Amino acid sequence: MEEVLIIGAGLAGLNCARVLQAGGVDCRVLEASDAPGGRVRTDEVEGYRLDRGFQVLLTAYPAARAALDYDALRLGEFEPGARVATPDGPARVSDPWRRPGQLLETLRAPVGTWGDKLLVGALRLAATLGTAEDGWPQGSAGTRTETRSTAEELMRRGFTPLMRERFLRPWLSGIFLERELVTPAAMLFFVYGMFARGAAALPAGGMQRIPEQLAAGLRPGTLRLGAAVREVRDGQVVLSTGETLRVREVVVAVEAGAEAALGLAGGRSEVAWRGVSCVQWAAERSPLGGEPVLWLNGTGRGRVNTVVVPSDVADGYAPEGKALVSTTVLGQPGPGGAQEDGALVTDLRAELAGYFGAEVGGWRPLAVQRIRRALPVVTAPGRGGMPERSAAGVWRCGDCMASASIQGAMASGAAVAAEILKRG
Ligand SMILES: Cc1cc2nc3c(=O)[nH]c(=O)nc-3n(C[C@H](O)[C@H](O)[C@H](O)COP(=O)(O)OP(=O)(O)OC[C@H]3O[C@@H](n4cnc5c(N)ncnc54)[C@H](O)[C@@H]3O)c2cc1C
Repeated sequence: MEEVLIIGAGLAGLNCARVLQAGGVDCRVLEASDAPGGRVRTDEVEGYRLDRGFQVLLTAYPAARAALDYDALRLGEFEPGARVATPDGPARVSDPWRRPGQLLETLRAPVGTWGDKLLVGALRLAATLGTAEDGWPQGSAGTRTETRSTAEELMRRGFTPLMRERFLRPWLSGIFLERELVTPAAMLFFVYGMFARGAAALPAGGMQRIPEQLAAGLRPGTLRLGAAVREVRDGQVVLSTGETLRVREVVVAVEAGAEAALGLAGGRSEVAWRGVSCVQWAAERSPLGGEPVLWLNGTGRGRVNTVVVPSDVADGYAPEGKALVSTTVLGQPGPGGAQEDGALVTDLRAELAGYFGAEVGGWRPLAVQRIRRALPVVTAPGRGGMPERSAAGVWRCGDCMASASIQGAMASGAAVAAEILKRG
Protein backbone atom coordinates (compact mmCIF):
# COMPACT_ATOMS: atom_id res chain seq x y z
CA MET A 1 0.00 0.00 0.00
CA GLU A 2 1.21 3.48 -0.95
CA GLU A 3 1.62 5.79 2.05
CA VAL A 4 0.30 9.00 0.50
CA LEU A 5 -1.13 9.56 -2.95
CA ILE A 6 -1.34 13.11 -4.28
CA ILE A 7 -3.71 13.91 -7.15
CA GLY A 8 -2.45 16.78 -9.32
CA ALA A 9 1.11 17.88 -10.10
CA GLY A 10 0.58 21.63 -9.98
CA LEU A 11 2.76 23.61 -7.60
CA ALA A 12 0.59 22.60 -4.63
CA GLY A 13 0.82 18.86 -5.27
CA LEU A 14 4.52 18.96 -6.11
CA ASN A 15 5.41 20.97 -3.03
CA CYS A 16 3.31 18.66 -0.87
CA ALA A 17 5.31 15.69 -2.23
CA ARG A 18 8.61 17.50 -1.65
CA VAL A 19 7.85 18.19 2.02
CA LEU A 20 6.53 14.65 2.62
CA GLN A 21 9.64 13.06 1.14
CA ALA A 22 11.91 15.40 3.09
CA GLY A 23 10.08 14.11 6.19
CA GLY A 24 10.68 10.51 5.17
CA VAL A 25 7.17 9.66 4.00
CA ASP A 26 6.65 7.65 0.83
CA CYS A 27 4.33 9.30 -1.69
CA ARG A 28 3.33 9.34 -5.32
CA VAL A 29 1.86 12.09 -7.50
CA LEU A 30 -0.68 11.31 -10.23
CA GLU A 31 -1.06 13.95 -12.95
CA ALA A 32 -3.64 13.81 -15.73
CA SER A 33 -1.69 15.89 -18.26
CA ASP A 34 1.61 15.29 -20.05
CA ALA A 35 3.87 17.43 -17.82
CA PRO A 36 4.03 18.80 -14.29
CA GLY A 37 3.10 22.41 -13.55
CA GLY A 38 -0.69 22.70 -13.85
CA ARG A 39 -1.28 26.37 -14.61
CA VAL A 40 2.46 27.05 -14.77
CA ARG A 41 3.36 25.70 -18.18
CA THR A 42 5.56 26.89 -21.04
CA ASP A 43 5.26 25.89 -24.72
CA GLU A 44 8.06 25.95 -27.26
CA VAL A 45 7.08 27.53 -30.60
CA GLU A 46 9.71 28.14 -33.29
CA GLY A 47 12.46 28.50 -30.70
CA TYR A 48 10.45 30.91 -28.50
CA ARG A 49 9.35 29.87 -25.02
CA LEU A 50 5.76 30.92 -24.41
CA ASP A 51 4.44 30.88 -20.87
CA ARG A 52 0.75 29.99 -20.83
CA GLY A 53 -0.30 33.48 -19.85
CA PHE A 54 2.02 36.12 -18.47
CA GLN A 55 2.93 35.41 -14.89
CA VAL A 56 5.84 36.11 -12.58
CA LEU A 57 7.50 34.61 -9.55
CA LEU A 58 7.77 37.10 -6.70
CA THR A 59 11.09 36.17 -5.14
CA ALA A 60 9.90 37.12 -1.65
CA TYR A 61 7.21 34.40 -1.60
CA PRO A 62 8.16 32.52 1.60
CA ALA A 63 7.04 29.12 0.29
CA ALA A 64 9.01 29.56 -2.93
CA ARG A 65 12.14 30.62 -1.04
CA ALA A 66 11.87 27.51 1.13
CA ALA A 67 11.45 25.13 -1.80
CA LEU A 68 13.26 26.49 -4.83
CA ASP A 69 16.90 26.89 -5.81
CA TYR A 70 16.76 30.41 -7.28
CA ASP A 71 20.35 30.27 -8.56
CA ALA A 72 19.66 27.13 -10.56
CA LEU A 73 16.55 28.78 -12.04
CA ARG A 74 18.78 31.62 -13.30
CA LEU A 75 16.11 34.17 -12.51
CA GLY A 76 15.93 37.39 -14.48
CA GLU A 77 14.38 40.26 -12.56
CA PHE A 78 12.06 43.04 -13.65
CA GLU A 79 13.01 46.61 -12.83
CA PRO A 80 10.88 47.82 -9.91
CA GLY A 81 7.97 50.00 -11.03
CA ALA A 82 6.57 50.29 -14.53
CA ARG A 83 6.40 52.31 -17.70
CA VAL A 84 2.91 53.68 -18.13
CA ALA A 85 1.10 55.02 -21.18
CA THR A 86 -1.11 57.92 -20.05
CA PRO A 87 -3.37 60.39 -21.90
CA ASP A 88 -0.53 62.90 -21.31
CA GLY A 89 2.10 60.64 -22.86
CA PRO A 90 4.47 57.99 -21.57
CA ALA A 91 5.53 58.06 -17.93
CA ARG A 92 7.67 56.07 -15.57
CA VAL A 93 6.86 55.02 -12.03
CA SER A 94 9.67 53.55 -9.99
CA ASP A 95 10.29 52.41 -6.45
CA PRO A 96 12.24 55.23 -4.78
CA TRP A 97 13.34 52.88 -1.98
CA ARG A 98 15.23 50.79 -4.53
CA ARG A 99 15.87 53.34 -7.24
CA PRO A 100 16.44 56.60 -5.34
CA GLY A 101 17.93 58.09 -8.52
CA GLN A 102 14.51 57.91 -10.15
CA LEU A 103 12.69 59.66 -7.29
CA LEU A 104 12.26 62.98 -9.10
CA GLU A 105 11.08 61.33 -12.32
CA THR A 106 8.55 59.31 -10.33
CA LEU A 107 7.31 62.36 -8.44
CA ARG A 108 6.91 64.34 -11.66
CA ALA A 109 5.24 61.53 -13.62
CA PRO A 110 1.70 62.50 -14.76
CA VAL A 111 0.43 59.56 -12.76
CA GLY A 112 -1.09 60.93 -9.58
CA THR A 113 -0.22 63.93 -7.44
CA TRP A 114 2.72 64.34 -5.06
CA GLY A 115 0.22 63.53 -2.29
CA ASP A 116 -0.56 60.22 -4.04
CA LYS A 117 3.10 59.37 -4.01
CA LEU A 118 3.23 59.91 -0.25
CA LEU A 119 0.18 57.65 0.06
CA VAL A 120 2.06 54.98 -1.89
CA GLY A 121 4.79 55.23 0.76
CA ALA A 122 2.18 54.76 3.50
CA LEU A 123 0.69 51.76 1.69
CA ARG A 124 4.13 50.25 1.29
CA LEU A 125 4.78 50.67 5.00
CA ALA A 126 1.43 49.09 5.91
CA ALA A 127 2.12 46.20 3.56
CA THR A 128 5.53 45.45 5.02
CA LEU A 129 4.62 45.67 8.70
CA GLY A 130 4.91 42.31 10.42
CA THR A 131 6.64 39.31 8.96
CA ALA A 132 6.32 37.96 5.45
CA GLU A 133 4.46 34.97 6.91
CA ASP A 134 1.66 37.12 8.35
CA GLY A 135 -1.66 37.37 6.63
CA TRP A 136 -4.28 35.39 4.80
CA PRO A 137 -2.47 34.33 1.68
CA GLN A 138 0.51 32.85 3.48
CA GLY A 139 -1.47 30.05 5.03
CA SER A 140 -0.90 31.03 8.65
CA ALA A 141 -3.63 32.06 11.04
CA GLY A 142 -3.05 35.55 9.77
CA THR A 143 -3.27 39.03 11.13
CA ARG A 144 -5.01 40.60 8.17
CA THR A 145 -8.72 40.64 8.68
CA GLU A 146 -9.77 43.38 6.23
CA THR A 147 -12.96 42.42 4.47
CA ARG A 148 -13.18 45.48 2.25
CA SER A 149 -12.28 45.23 -1.40
CA THR A 150 -9.08 46.57 -2.91
CA ALA A 151 -11.06 49.34 -4.67
CA GLU A 152 -12.60 50.41 -1.35
CA GLU A 153 -9.22 50.34 0.38
CA LEU A 154 -7.66 52.57 -2.29
CA MET A 155 -10.55 55.04 -1.93
CA ARG A 156 -10.33 54.94 1.87
CA ARG A 157 -6.64 55.75 1.70
CA GLY A 158 -7.41 58.84 -0.35
CA PHE A 159 -5.72 58.09 -3.68
CA THR A 160 -6.86 60.50 -6.40
CA PRO A 161 -8.67 59.20 -9.50
CA LEU A 162 -5.55 60.13 -11.49
CA MET A 163 -3.42 57.72 -9.49
CA ARG A 164 -6.06 55.02 -9.34
CA GLU A 165 -6.92 55.02 -13.03
CA ARG A 166 -3.50 55.64 -14.54
CA PHE A 167 -1.39 53.34 -12.38
CA LEU A 168 -3.06 51.41 -9.57
CA ARG A 169 -5.94 49.98 -11.59
CA PRO A 170 -3.89 48.74 -14.59
CA TRP A 171 -1.16 47.42 -12.30
CA LEU A 172 -3.40 45.62 -9.80
CA SER A 173 -5.90 44.39 -12.38
CA GLY A 174 -2.99 42.78 -14.22
CA ILE A 175 -2.28 40.81 -11.02
CA PHE A 176 -5.83 40.05 -9.89
CA LEU A 177 -7.05 39.62 -13.49
CA GLU A 178 -10.12 41.77 -12.85
CA ARG A 179 -10.63 45.48 -13.50
CA GLU A 180 -13.18 46.27 -10.79
CA LEU A 181 -10.66 45.49 -8.03
CA VAL A 182 -13.23 43.58 -5.97
CA THR A 183 -10.43 41.30 -4.76
CA PRO A 184 -10.16 41.55 -0.94
CA ALA A 185 -7.76 44.21 0.29
CA ALA A 186 -5.87 41.51 2.21
CA MET A 187 -4.56 40.43 -1.19
CA LEU A 188 -3.48 44.01 -1.97
CA PHE A 189 -1.38 44.13 1.20
CA PHE A 190 0.03 40.70 0.53
CA VAL A 191 1.01 41.47 -3.07
CA TYR A 192 2.39 44.91 -2.23
CA GLY A 193 4.42 43.43 0.61
CA MET A 194 5.88 40.80 -1.71
CA PHE A 195 6.82 43.40 -4.35
CA ALA A 196 8.44 45.55 -1.65
CA ARG A 197 10.43 42.68 -0.17
CA GLY A 198 11.74 41.13 -3.37
CA ALA A 199 11.65 41.21 -7.14
CA ALA A 200 9.27 40.05 -9.84
CA ALA A 201 11.23 37.46 -11.78
CA LEU A 202 11.17 34.93 -14.62
CA PRO A 203 13.32 31.77 -14.76
CA ALA A 204 15.59 31.28 -17.75
CA GLY A 205 13.66 29.18 -20.26
CA GLY A 206 10.20 29.93 -18.89
CA MET A 207 7.97 29.60 -15.85
CA GLN A 208 7.65 25.84 -16.30
CA ARG A 209 11.21 25.52 -15.03
CA ILE A 210 9.72 26.05 -11.55
CA PRO A 211 7.54 22.91 -11.44
CA GLU A 212 10.26 21.05 -13.36
CA GLN A 213 12.74 21.86 -10.62
CA LEU A 214 10.31 20.68 -7.94
CA ALA A 215 9.60 17.47 -9.88
CA ALA A 216 13.31 16.78 -10.43
CA GLY A 217 13.87 16.94 -6.66
CA LEU A 218 11.42 14.11 -6.00
CA ARG A 219 12.51 10.48 -5.75
CA PRO A 220 12.60 8.74 -9.14
CA GLY A 221 9.21 7.24 -9.99
CA THR A 222 7.25 9.60 -7.73
CA LEU A 223 5.52 11.44 -10.55
CA ARG A 224 3.23 9.58 -12.91
CA LEU A 225 2.09 11.62 -15.92
CA GLY A 226 -0.97 10.89 -18.06
CA ALA A 227 -2.62 9.38 -15.00
CA ALA A 228 -6.10 10.89 -14.67
CA VAL A 229 -7.98 9.99 -11.52
CA ARG A 230 -11.67 9.20 -11.96
CA GLU A 231 -12.79 8.57 -8.40
CA VAL A 232 -11.66 8.63 -4.79
CA ARG A 233 -13.50 6.40 -2.30
CA ASP A 234 -12.82 4.48 0.91
CA GLY A 235 -9.06 4.86 0.84
CA GLN A 236 -8.97 3.86 -2.82
CA VAL A 237 -8.08 5.90 -5.86
CA VAL A 238 -9.51 4.78 -9.19
CA LEU A 239 -7.80 5.91 -12.39
CA SER A 240 -9.62 6.55 -15.68
CA THR A 241 -8.16 3.27 -16.91
CA GLY A 242 -9.94 1.42 -14.10
CA GLU A 243 -6.69 0.75 -12.23
CA THR A 244 -7.32 0.95 -8.47
CA LEU A 245 -4.73 1.95 -5.89
CA ARG A 246 -5.07 1.47 -2.14
CA VAL A 247 -3.52 4.24 -0.09
CA ARG A 248 -3.19 5.36 3.51
CA GLU A 249 -3.78 9.05 2.81
CA VAL A 250 -5.13 10.88 -0.24
CA VAL A 251 -4.24 14.51 -1.01
CA VAL A 252 -6.41 16.19 -3.62
CA ALA A 253 -4.34 18.95 -5.27
CA VAL A 254 -6.46 19.56 -8.37
CA GLU A 255 -7.70 23.01 -9.45
CA ALA A 256 -10.85 24.51 -7.89
CA GLY A 257 -13.96 22.65 -8.97
CA ALA A 258 -12.13 19.62 -10.41
CA GLU A 259 -12.61 17.74 -7.13
CA ALA A 260 -16.33 17.35 -7.92
CA ALA A 261 -15.40 15.08 -10.85
CA LEU A 262 -13.67 12.77 -8.35
CA GLY A 263 -16.97 12.02 -6.65
CA LEU A 264 -15.91 13.69 -3.40
CA ALA A 265 -18.73 14.72 -1.11
CA GLY A 266 -18.75 18.46 -0.63
CA GLY A 267 -16.61 19.02 -3.71
CA ARG A 268 -17.49 22.28 -5.41
CA SER A 269 -18.26 22.10 -9.09
CA GLU A 270 -19.48 25.67 -9.56
CA VAL A 271 -16.39 27.81 -9.16
CA ALA A 272 -16.00 31.30 -10.55
CA TRP A 273 -12.75 31.88 -12.43
CA ARG A 274 -10.87 34.91 -13.68
CA GLY A 275 -9.80 34.49 -17.29
CA VAL A 276 -7.35 36.25 -19.53
CA SER A 277 -6.16 36.30 -23.15
CA CYS A 278 -2.57 36.63 -24.13
CA VAL A 279 -1.14 37.22 -27.59
CA GLN A 280 2.53 36.32 -27.94
CA TRP A 281 4.49 37.98 -30.73
CA ALA A 282 7.86 37.44 -32.38
CA ALA A 283 9.64 40.75 -32.98
CA GLU A 284 12.97 41.76 -34.48
CA ARG A 285 13.69 43.96 -31.48
CA SER A 286 12.25 44.82 -28.11
CA PRO A 287 9.70 47.68 -28.11
CA LEU A 288 10.94 48.51 -24.60
CA GLY A 289 14.54 49.04 -25.70
CA GLY A 290 15.81 45.95 -23.94
CA GLU A 291 14.92 47.21 -20.47
CA PRO A 292 13.35 44.50 -18.27
CA VAL A 293 10.32 46.52 -17.31
CA LEU A 294 6.56 46.10 -17.10
CA TRP A 295 4.50 48.30 -19.46
CA LEU A 296 0.99 49.31 -18.40
CA ASN A 297 -1.90 50.87 -20.23
CA GLY A 298 -2.98 53.83 -18.09
CA THR A 299 -4.83 55.60 -20.91
CA GLY A 300 -8.24 54.32 -19.85
CA ARG A 301 -8.81 53.17 -23.45
CA GLY A 302 -8.09 50.10 -25.53
CA ARG A 303 -7.95 46.40 -24.75
CA VAL A 304 -4.32 45.77 -23.93
CA ASN A 305 -3.60 45.96 -20.20
CA THR A 306 0.00 44.81 -19.97
CA VAL A 307 2.96 44.43 -22.30
CA VAL A 308 6.12 42.59 -21.32
CA VAL A 309 9.14 41.40 -23.22
CA PRO A 310 10.17 38.20 -21.42
CA SER A 311 13.30 37.96 -23.59
CA ASP A 312 14.49 41.26 -22.03
CA VAL A 313 14.09 39.77 -18.56
CA ALA A 314 15.45 36.21 -18.63
CA ASP A 315 17.50 34.00 -20.94
CA GLY A 316 16.03 31.48 -23.32
CA TYR A 317 12.70 33.10 -24.16
CA ALA A 318 13.63 33.99 -27.76
CA PRO A 319 16.21 32.90 -30.32
CA GLU A 320 19.43 34.93 -30.34
CA GLY A 321 18.86 38.47 -31.61
CA LYS A 322 15.05 38.26 -31.54
CA ALA A 323 12.48 39.46 -29.03
CA LEU A 324 9.36 37.84 -27.56
CA VAL A 325 6.57 40.31 -26.81
CA SER A 326 3.71 39.19 -24.60
CA THR A 327 0.49 41.23 -24.49
CA THR A 328 -2.35 40.65 -22.05
CA VAL A 329 -6.06 41.41 -22.39
CA LEU A 330 -8.20 41.06 -19.27
CA GLY A 331 -11.59 39.39 -19.04
CA GLN A 332 -13.06 35.99 -19.81
CA PRO A 333 -11.92 35.10 -23.34
CA GLY A 334 -14.45 34.38 -26.07
CA PRO A 335 -14.78 30.93 -27.61
CA GLY A 336 -11.77 31.44 -29.89
CA GLY A 337 -11.22 29.85 -33.26
CA ALA A 338 -9.31 31.12 -36.28
CA GLN A 339 -11.67 33.99 -37.08
CA GLU A 340 -11.87 35.37 -33.54
CA ASP A 341 -8.13 34.95 -33.02
CA GLY A 342 -7.46 36.79 -36.27
CA ALA A 343 -9.75 39.64 -35.23
CA LEU A 344 -8.02 39.92 -31.84
CA VAL A 345 -4.59 40.03 -33.48
CA THR A 346 -5.76 42.75 -35.90
CA ASP A 347 -7.29 44.84 -33.09
CA LEU A 348 -4.27 44.54 -30.85
CA ARG A 349 -1.81 45.29 -33.64
CA ALA A 350 -3.63 48.56 -34.40
CA GLU A 351 -3.74 49.50 -30.71
CA LEU A 352 -0.12 48.57 -30.03
CA ALA A 353 1.05 50.60 -33.04
CA GLY A 354 -0.38 53.63 -31.25
CA TYR A 355 1.97 52.98 -28.33
CA PHE A 356 5.06 51.56 -30.02
CA GLY A 357 4.91 52.87 -33.59
CA ALA A 358 5.06 51.36 -37.05
CA GLU A 359 7.45 48.54 -36.05
CA VAL A 360 4.43 46.71 -34.61
CA GLY A 361 3.39 46.04 -38.22
CA GLY A 362 6.32 43.61 -38.45
CA TRP A 363 5.43 41.62 -35.34
CA ARG A 364 4.38 38.04 -36.03
CA PRO A 365 1.78 36.42 -33.78
CA LEU A 366 3.13 33.14 -32.38
CA ALA A 367 0.11 32.21 -30.28
CA VAL A 368 -3.23 33.48 -29.10
CA GLN A 369 -3.74 32.00 -25.64
CA ARG A 370 -7.23 31.96 -24.17
CA ILE A 371 -7.02 31.00 -20.53
CA ARG A 372 -10.44 30.66 -18.99
CA ARG A 373 -9.32 29.17 -15.69
CA ALA A 374 -6.47 31.38 -14.60
CA LEU A 375 -7.34 32.40 -11.04
CA PRO A 376 -10.16 31.00 -8.92
CA VAL A 377 -12.23 33.72 -7.29
CA VAL A 378 -11.37 33.56 -3.60
CA THR A 379 -13.68 36.02 -1.93
CA ALA A 380 -12.90 35.76 1.75
CA PRO A 381 -9.91 34.95 3.90
CA GLY A 382 -11.75 31.83 5.14
CA ARG A 383 -9.53 29.31 6.86
CA GLY A 384 -6.41 30.95 5.54
CA GLY A 385 -4.99 27.91 3.82
CA MET A 386 -4.93 25.80 6.97
CA PRO A 387 -4.91 22.11 6.11
CA GLU A 388 -8.31 20.49 5.82
CA ARG A 389 -9.13 16.79 5.94
CA SER A 390 -12.65 15.85 4.95
CA ALA A 391 -14.85 13.40 6.83
CA ALA A 392 -13.95 10.89 4.13
CA GLY A 393 -10.30 11.22 5.15
CA VAL A 394 -9.19 13.19 2.12
CA TRP A 395 -6.84 16.17 2.33
CA ARG A 396 -7.32 19.20 0.09
CA CYS A 397 -4.67 21.67 -1.01
CA GLY A 398 -4.21 24.13 -3.88
CA ASP A 399 -4.38 27.84 -4.49
CA CYS A 400 -8.17 27.80 -3.95
CA MET A 401 -7.49 26.93 -0.30
CA ALA A 402 -5.25 29.93 0.31
CA SER A 403 -4.65 32.71 -2.21
CA ALA A 404 -4.76 32.49 -5.98
CA SER A 405 -1.00 32.67 -6.36
CA ILE A 406 2.16 30.62 -6.58
CA GLN A 407 2.68 31.33 -2.88
CA GLY A 408 -0.86 30.23 -2.00
CA ALA A 409 -0.50 26.97 -3.94
CA MET A 410 2.93 26.08 -2.58
CA ALA A 411 2.14 27.07 1.01
CA SER A 412 -1.06 25.06 1.06
CA GLY A 413 0.73 21.97 -0.31
CA ALA A 414 3.47 22.31 2.31
CA ALA A 415 0.92 22.86 5.10
CA VAL A 416 -0.96 19.65 4.27
CA ALA A 417 2.32 17.70 4.15
CA ALA A 418 3.38 19.13 7.52
CA GLU A 419 0.06 18.07 9.03
CA ILE A 420 0.39 14.52 7.68
CA LEU A 421 3.95 14.33 9.03
CA LYS A 422 2.78 15.57 12.41
CA ARG A 423 0.21 12.79 12.62
CA GLY A 424 2.94 10.24 11.96
C1 LIG B 1 -2.43 33.44 -16.71
C2 LIG B 1 -2.06 33.25 -15.27
C3 LIG B 1 -1.35 34.25 -14.62
C4 LIG B 1 -0.98 34.08 -13.29
N1 LIG B 1 -0.16 35.02 -12.71
C5 LIG B 1 0.39 34.74 -11.52
C6 LIG B 1 1.45 35.56 -11.01
O1 LIG B 1 1.94 36.48 -11.69
N2 LIG B 1 1.96 35.27 -9.77
C7 LIG B 1 1.46 34.26 -9.02
O2 LIG B 1 1.92 34.06 -7.89
N3 LIG B 1 0.48 33.44 -9.48
C8 LIG B 1 -0.03 33.65 -10.72
N4 LIG B 1 -0.98 32.79 -11.24
C9 LIG B 1 -1.56 31.78 -10.36
C10 LIG B 1 -0.72 30.52 -10.17
O3 LIG B 1 -0.21 30.06 -11.41
C11 LIG B 1 -1.63 29.43 -9.55
O4 LIG B 1 -2.19 29.98 -8.36
C12 LIG B 1 -0.92 28.13 -9.19
O5 LIG B 1 -0.09 27.70 -10.23
C13 LIG B 1 -1.96 27.08 -8.84
O6 LIG B 1 -1.33 25.85 -8.52
P1 LIG B 1 -2.18 24.59 -7.99
O7 LIG B 1 -1.23 23.49 -7.77
O8 LIG B 1 -3.03 25.02 -6.84
O9 LIG B 1 -3.23 24.25 -9.16
P2 LIG B 1 -3.00 23.80 -10.68
O10 LIG B 1 -1.78 24.44 -11.21
O11 LIG B 1 -4.28 24.07 -11.39
O12 LIG B 1 -2.73 22.23 -10.62
C14 LIG B 1 -3.76 21.27 -10.57
C15 LIG B 1 -3.28 20.01 -11.29
O13 LIG B 1 -4.22 18.96 -11.08
C16 LIG B 1 -4.31 18.21 -12.27
N5 LIG B 1 -5.57 17.45 -12.25
C17 LIG B 1 -6.83 17.94 -12.30
N6 LIG B 1 -7.74 16.94 -12.26
C18 LIG B 1 -7.01 15.78 -12.20
C19 LIG B 1 -7.38 14.41 -12.13
N7 LIG B 1 -8.66 14.01 -12.12
N8 LIG B 1 -6.40 13.47 -12.07
C20 LIG B 1 -5.08 13.83 -12.07
N9 LIG B 1 -4.68 15.14 -12.15
C21 LIG B 1 -5.64 16.10 -12.19
C22 LIG B 1 -4.26 19.27 -13.36
O14 LIG B 1 -3.90 18.71 -14.61
C23 LIG B 1 -3.17 20.20 -12.80
O15 LIG B 1 -1.88 19.83 -13.24
C24 LIG B 1 -1.37 32.92 -12.57
C25 LIG B 1 -2.10 31.93 -13.23
C26 LIG B 1 -2.40 32.07 -14.56
C27 LIG B 1 -3.08 30.94 -15.27
